[in-house]
Amino acid sequence: MNAPHKYLIKGVSVLGRPKTDLLIQDGVVAEGDAKGAEVVDADGLVALPGLVDLHTHLREPGREDAETVESGSRAAALGGYTAVCAMANTSPVADTAGVVEQVYRLGREAGLVDVQPIGAVTVGLAGERLAELGAMATSAAAVRIFSDDGHCVSDPKLMRRALEYVKAFGGVIAQHAEEPRLTEGAQMHEGEVATRLGLTGWPAVAEEAIIARDVLLAEHVGSRLHVCHVSTAGSVEVLRHAKARGVRVTAEVTPHHLLLTDERATSYDPVFKVNPPLRPASDVEALRKALKDGVIDIVATDHAPHAVEDKECEWAYARPGMLGLETALSITLSVLGEDWDLIAERMSRAPARIAGLDGHGHDPVPGAPANLTLVDPAARRVVDPAESASRSRNTPYAGMTLPGRVVATFLRGTPTVLDGKAVK
Ligand SMILES: [Zn+2]
Repeated sequence: MNAPHKYLIKGVSVLGRPKTDLLIQDGVVAEGDAKGAEVVDADGLVALPGLVDLHTHLREPGREDAETVESGSRAAALGGYTAVCAMANTSPVADTAGVVEQVYRLGREAGLVDVQPIGAVTVGLAGERLAELGAMATSAAAVRIFSDDGHCVSDPKLMRRALEYVKAFGGVIAQHAEEPRLTEGAQMHEGEVATRLGLTGWPAVAEEAIIARDVLLAEHVGSRLHVCHVSTAGSVEVLRHAKARGVRVTAEVTPHHLLLTDERATSYDPVFKVNPPLRPASDVEALRKALKDGVIDIVATDHAPHAVEDKECEWAYARPGMLGLETALSITLSVLGEDWDLIAERMSRAPARIAGLDGHGHDPVPGAPANLTLVDPAARRVVDPAESASRSRNTPYAGMTLPGRVVATFLRGTPTVLDGKAVK
């Protein structure tokens, strides 16, 4: 049986405004006759444009034991997302038209969110020669964002050429800013806690130096740079300066860098091991302020599922990364408060603009594509890793009580989540 094409979302607050009814028909927010529509009681709920994640690791192809396009898509829908950008560090690496088309097709087949593949900047993420950026851009996946995420494009000449190449078709290079020579052997943020624990430090300047270099390169070339997972106060200052000069740079922060500090490493629990590492409270404070004032444009999850054997081992051997899709909205809500317009900007409109996802990032008003999510801001939930739709369990928030709950998500008018549960 086909799902009804018509839904009436009753008594919803669109972005915190007074209650209204939203009619959803034929994939758009409509006006007119609600007769025959299935009614969704939205008393007390807030409607947001469907969230867009610019930084997701879906692990397929290659590590389907940790995540698949389908399981990651389901986690995304449950988190309120209608589109995610899939990072290229799969196996094989997404550095050809063939692989990005495969990921794109798997996303369409799952049908839970729009999966937009990100292409690798360099062949095999090896940082030696440029991948087939043009072929990926003109493929069925229409790649616009390129990133070696997990690795930094540390060679400045290669970075310059990548920026020049994508300028021709309005692409963007998303940099994982980490000067590798400065982080050799590093285990956690370089600072007082690392000294106390006797772990090799990961200095803030390893990130800041690359961002400083890259904003200058982007300015020189006149091309678009996006900075992944900004984690230090110094990086914020470099970005503030670059933006004031008119450099075409955008930046993201992850939920975990907005909430957790390097003190977590004192537990030696590898669930808190992440790249870039958790930083001190002073950095967290600067990141929160930058997200509010717009120096940081968006929240991106860096959802990084890992199999148990890659995470439940000694700190030094554990893979870096954390789950993020199902908790990002709650954490952003706890950081920004119920400023729904700002949340919509940082988690939907701005990421959709950066990624060029024209069907996403529109407020749910008549005429807009019906990509939206309904949130219950009054709900509180305790994070239980066993309840995650991800194939992995490496959430750093286990046992924490977080505000807000996604009640429903619609992708082009079709519910992917209803009553807080995935529809398929
Ligand atoms: Zn990264």
